[in-house]
Amino acid sequence: MITHGSTTVPPATPIDSAETTVRCLRCGLEQPRTNVCVNCHSFLPGTKTALIHGGRQFVEGNGTALDEARRTEIEVNVLEDLGGTDEVSEVMRSLVADFAGAVVLRDLVFAHLRAKGPLTKAGRRRACTSLYFDASARAERLAKQIGTSRKPARVSTLQDVLEGGGR
Ligand SMILES: [Zn+2]
Repeated sequence: MITHGSTTVPPATPIDSAETTVRCLRCGLEQPRTNVCVNCHSFLPGTKTALIHGGRQFVEGNGTALDEARRTEIEVNVLEDLGGTDEVSEVMRSLVADFAGAVVLRDLVFAHLRAKGPLTKAGRRRACTSLYFDASARAERLAKQIGTSRKPARVSTLQDVLEGGGR
């Protein structure tokens, strides 16, 4: 049961609660379903209830378990595309973390704009509209630095074939 201020979020459906364990995106540890990994303290995925009141959370500045899980998910996926954490430099890891944060911020601001509309009642452009474009531009800039292509799976070279003997 998760509460946001006075709002009580109903418990997950019986189907969800049947899944009693969750796998950490960062360290891969399978563990009883909670919000934070017991091993690496990353937020764990699957907190669907945190989607509710996205706009309000944005205004109040509360990070949610979902946002953190999403950020970790993006970071892990991008690092995987780059061939795994061990294959990338410290600088690249930092860029990837920054990229994941920019994407989550962009999506969070967009959710807010979607809920509220881009204009105020007075017909002015909402201040967070520029924040949306800033976050979007930042994510795009970082994506260019990181690169958009997946590192191809390692294919056998002629050397490998020769070393493999006369199969
Ligand atoms: Zn973990």
